[in-house]
Amino acid sequence: MPQLQDIASQVRRDIVRMVHGVQSGHPGGSLGCADFLTALYFKIMDHKPTPFDMDGKDQDLFFLSNGHISPVFYSVLARSGYFPVTELSTFRKLNSRLQGHPTTHEHLPGVRIASGSLGQGMSVAIGAALSKKLNGDKHIVFSLHGDGELEEGQIWEAAMFAPHHKVDNLIITIDANGQQIDGTTADVAGLGDIGAKFEVFGWHVIHMDGNNMDEVVATLEKAKSLTGQGKPICIIMKTVMGEGVDFMEGHHEWHGIAPNDEQLAKALAQLPETLGDY
Ligand SMILES: [Mg+2]
Repeated sequence: MPQLQDIASQVRRDIVRMVHGVQSGHPGGSLGCADFLTALYFKIMDHKPTPFDMDGKDQDLFFLSNGHISPVFYSVLARSGYFPVTELSTFRKLNSRLQGHPTTHEHLPGVRIASGSLGQGMSVAIGAALSKKLNGDKHIVFSLHGDGELEEGQIWEAAMFAPHHKVDNLIITIDANGQQIDGTTADVAGLGDIGAKFEVFGWHVIHMDGNNMDEVVATLEKAKSLTGQGKPICIIMKTVMGEGVDFMEGHHEWHGIAPNDEQLAKALAQLPETLGDY
């Protein structure tokens, strides 16, 4: 098994190549979350890529709530065996199973909810976690959310519900990159101290650097050890939008635009090909 950092480098190559290939998509948040999703699918989760089971009984589940970062999600799903890696070349094309925002209609293995309309994935994750409890299934439910996504009202309904109902088999992660499509989160809506907000709602809050693979793995392991103790768990994950490609790092402008040919070449020069390009 290649090192997680090597897998993440290939995932980042996939992201910029997919978005460049159709001149459309969201590279910034995808690059920032590449380490997290690599750790989750290649190390942390107990999951079964094949045959794909939509209900996900007796395995850990992951829900991507900020669906616009589909490039990183699709890359990690393909690289971990859910569907052929060659299919990444169909990203955002007509009749592709790899829609710009994940949908269930296309039956892409690994995708259990449509996402892209922001704010809904936490509610879904809570429902799945509760159903696991009812079914006596000891596995864990994970979800990922953007920090800009926290401006959606439904998030806070879910944030109140989970601690009240002691949904303690749930680990949500907030991608705290401080950026959203129209600017910094501070400029757009001023989220303040996100961790303090979840804590006061009754969550067990932990923090991590989402672009340090060792720290990501250690923090996710710690989060797993905190399940079953009466509280849902919230990880505040500090990341850099565009991480790994120097000219994209920290700029909200790269939230939703594609690199041109020259920028693609520059990006790929910074990201070693480790598993082989699709
Ligand atoms: Mg953000």
